[in-house]
Amino acid sequence: MPVEAFVPQPSTLYVVATPIGNLRDITLRALDVLRGVDQVAAEDTRVTQRLFAAYGIRKPIVALHEHNETNMTPKLIDAMRAGQSIALVSDAGTPGVSDPGAYLVRAARASGLVVVPIPGPSAVSAALSVAGLAHSAWLFFGFLPAKPTARRQILSDLVGFPYPIVFYEAPHRVVDSVADLATVFGPQRKLLLARELTKCFEQIVELTLGEAGDWLAADADRQRGEFVLIVDSPPRAIARSALAAEQVLDALLSELPPTQAARLAAKLTGQPRRSLYARAINATATQRD
Ligand code: SAM
Repeated sequence: MPVEAFVPQPSTLYVVATPIGNLRDITLRALDVLRGVDQVAAEDTRVTQRLFAAYGIRKPIVALHEHNETNMTPKLIDAMRAGQSIALVSDAGTPGVSDPGAYLVRAARASGLVVVPIPGPSAVSAALSVAGLAHSAWLFFGFLPAKPTARRQILSDLVGFPYPIVFYEAPHRVVDSVADLATVFGPQRKLLLARELTKCFEQIVELTLGEAGDWLAADADRQRGEFVLIVDSPPRAIARSALAAEQVLDALLSELPPTQAARLAAKLTGQPRRSLYARAINATATQRD
């Protein structure tokens, strides 16, 4: 039986996933929606124009991004209340996944409008699909903070987390973030680095965090493009003792300066002194802020 084309309904917001690189990675239903709606709200109209040109789609596109969403959203809500159907797209992948979208989605639902997902590509699911993780649970963290202190603070909070963690990273920060991951999580922890997924220079490599810095440094091209980093969970015993070490460190920090507290906590618990020291420094910096 032929599968019929999907017809967008009036007064509905469609949240449409678009390719993360390879323009062929778009669903038939996404194309039906983009062709059938009254207008499209896009993070960057030029990026969406390129996609539309590839598929011969002609449709009014309005810009909707973090700098204008408070102004634009009421207009889009009014249009949908008047019966229009609207598609929301981001530059790549799934809107709302480390991308704009949540504000319009919340406003549409609060206005009693129907919000429909049109699922498709996302860098997180693409990377997870080839990670071969032993766990069915994982944490999607997205982008780490740009500032080193905040980044290390968050990483030291996550060091004993007992499941794999998925990070997004940009080319200009990947070297620093990987260095901080190695310092805080320890060089033995496994990393799946997925770069330029679905594009010409796609690379998917499994390394330890200790090896990852050298791998990136070995070829400047390896630092280009877009990255998903999946840090594997710590062995169970390490997760438990990492949590215990954090508690010991926190207690010692109330009596001792960071260097001594970290050294003693490392001795008592067998955890790496460097990651405990990073946590201690961040804890004292946070107290001062
Ligand atoms: N909404 C997108 C999604 O569903 O994956 C994410 C958008 S976020 C602004 C951009 C980040 O996603 C990049 O910095 C990178 O971490 C990740 N990403 C997007 N496309 C990618 C690709 N082709 N390969 C690897 N990572 C990608």
